[in-house]
Amino acid sequence: MPNKHGRYLNRLRLGLLQTYYSSWISWFLSSKGNEYFCEVDEDFIVDRFNLTGLNNEVANYSQALDLITDNLDDDIQDELRGSLDVQARLLYGLIHARWIITARGLQKMLEKYKRADFGRCPRVLCHQQPLLPVGLTDIPYEKSVKLYCGRCEDLYSPKSSRHGSIDGAYFGTTFPHLLFLVYPTLLPPKSGPSDFGSGSSRDMAGDSRRRRLREEQEIAEGGGDAISTASVALKADRYRPKIYGFQVHEIAKLQRWQEAVRDRQVARLESLEDPART
Ligand SMILES: [Zn+2]
Repeated sequence: MPNKHGRYLNRLRLGLLQTYYSSWISWFLSSKGNEYFCEVDEDFIVDRFNLTGLNNEVANYSQALDLITDNLDDDIQDELRGSLDVQARLLYGLIHARWIITARGLQKMLEKYKRADFGRCPRVLCHQQPLLPVGLTDIPYEKSVKLYCGRCEDLYSPKSSRHGSIDGAYFGTTFPHLLFLVYPTLLPPKSGPSDFGSGSSRDMAGDSRRRRLREEQEIAEGGGDAISTASVALKADRYRPKIYGFQVHEIAKLQRWQEAVRDRQVARLESLEDPART
């Protein structure tokens, strides 16, 4: 009997789902926490070429695909429903990572970027620069999604834990850098307020400069714990933007120069700090 009851409930659930949402994808996109995702065109999913290799990544691949495309057989659904939901999310995420680096996918994500759907950079001098989602690896279940700022070229964690737990592989390592490569006019300026700015940004910049001066003074006056500036500088990890696994040429060139400057400064600090320590 419970089986029949379960089947009835599933039918009811499916019925409700179809009443409120036209498809699994629109239900998924409207679920809380999935705001970073954009809609993958059905044409893209239906073309099996685009899904090459994903059958090895997702268990119950064909049923998961049927669920996403609203073709799932009622009977199969009863037995696998629970785990199938998880697999369907994984499959949609992996398809999504491939979709957002196509011309149409980039365009859809661009609209979200312009609405600042992914949040804004917390760094004051970035003047409310909208962020873009990025993965640190293209392999699922390894790293959660991070947010990339095109201005300070740094990474941030999403504010909400719902977004913080999204798999980074659903966005991939290439996406934000390819977006700026395809739309170079969107590359934010390195200083001054941007088009997306919030208006009062000039004052904010002045404020932060004054605040930083004050902090530096405080550190110089009182702070001086036995922490070596040189060793801290050496430990700082840098994010290296990549497109299809390759470093972005201009940024790579700039980073090599920045690192040479940093190494010179570290050597200078070491020569200053070493005699003090002995
Ligand atoms: Zn920033």
